[in-house]
Amino acid sequence: MKELVIISGKGGTGKTSLTASFAVLADRPVVADCDVDAADLHLVLSPVISERHEFQSGRQAVIRNADCIDCGSCLELCRFGAVMRLTEEEAMRTCTPEETDCRDCDHCERSCPLRIRVIIRELQQAAGMGRSAAYSIDPQACEGCGVCVRFCPAGAIDFNERICGEWMISDTRIGRMVHARLGVAAENSGKLVSLVRREARRIAEAEGRRLILVDGPPGIGCPVIASVTGASLVLVVTEPTVSGKHDLERVLSLARHFDIPAAVCVNKWDINPEMTEQIEGEARRAGARIAGRIRYDRGVTLAQLQARTVVETDAACAEDIRNVWKQLAIQEEEAEHGMRG
Ligand code: SF4
Ligand code: SF4
Repeated sequence: MKELVIISGKGGTGKTSLTASFAVLADRPVVADCDVDAADLHLVLSPVISERHEFQSGRQAVIRNADCIDCGSCLELCRFGAVMRLTEEEAMRTCTPEETDCRDCDHCERSCPLRIRVIIRELQQAAGMGRSAAYSIDPQACEGCGVCVRFCPAGAIDFNERICGEWMISDTRIGRMVHARLGVAAENSGKLVSLVRREARRIAEAEGRRLILVDGPPGIGCPVIASVTGASLVLVVTEPTVSGKHDLERVLSLARHFDIPAAVCVNKWDINPEMTEQIEGEARRAGARIAGRIRYDRGVTLAQLQARTVVETDAACAEDIRNVWKQLAIQEEEAEHGMRG
């Protein structure tokens, strides 16, 4: 079984369009969309979800204000500024009428002749509504370190598993697909990428598929490392620009570091043929193979608008993509000295 990972130094180079086209050209591969921060392969492959799972990672502190004794330790100890002491008004809102016998009529506030806050509080507390103080934890600022939980003298802080997103197994017109969606501001995308790859491999083994196609994340960070380690081959898609050249150098150095064979494809090569030559020269010197060039073609946008892969249309660059695929297939045959299997 081979695993081909398509990556790029930055987003928007055509990586996903290429992955989708390869998925059509290959012999029923298992497709893994590991660009979990901005997944969009589903827009072209129109998956029908057959399994959906929560992605839990890390923990998040949540204060039970009913048990809080207002010691202030959590506020003082949290190094991430995630704990907030609520104003009286906000504190009132943390206690909903559904939780108590209170009917939320405001009579206690309006009828108290002395208008002394303490008395009002006592009345409210007698009704199970008032609180001396309330705290709240900003879920996006909480790093899940657990310090507040450990030191809360009242044991008033829950430390629940954090739901960071979801992952799915789907059926598409080209075969099975594993994909995911990371929650807003959620972290641990590297862990989710590993999970998606693991599931894709499990399905490929169970169904006897020979190829896993991975749409990797852009850049060189943790999610990229999680998507390429142990792969048979990475195909780096780049554009003929100064930043494209710079990003390519970084990605190729990452592939070299992890000892993964690399190939390079220049997308929209004809917008700057001179830079394309330079990029290919750099790629060769860095030990990568040249998988081919793809011309600039508005047909790519038209294909996207029709929710089809480029090779399913009559776009001129479809021929270039087929040629790149053939180059990669040749490398696949040369597994002994080209790809890790
Ligand atoms: S540490 Fe516990 S008891 Fe003290 S303020 Fe925080 S939640 Fe309340
Ligand atoms: S778990 Fe850590 S980061 Fe989160 S609120 Fe408590 S002390 Fe702050």
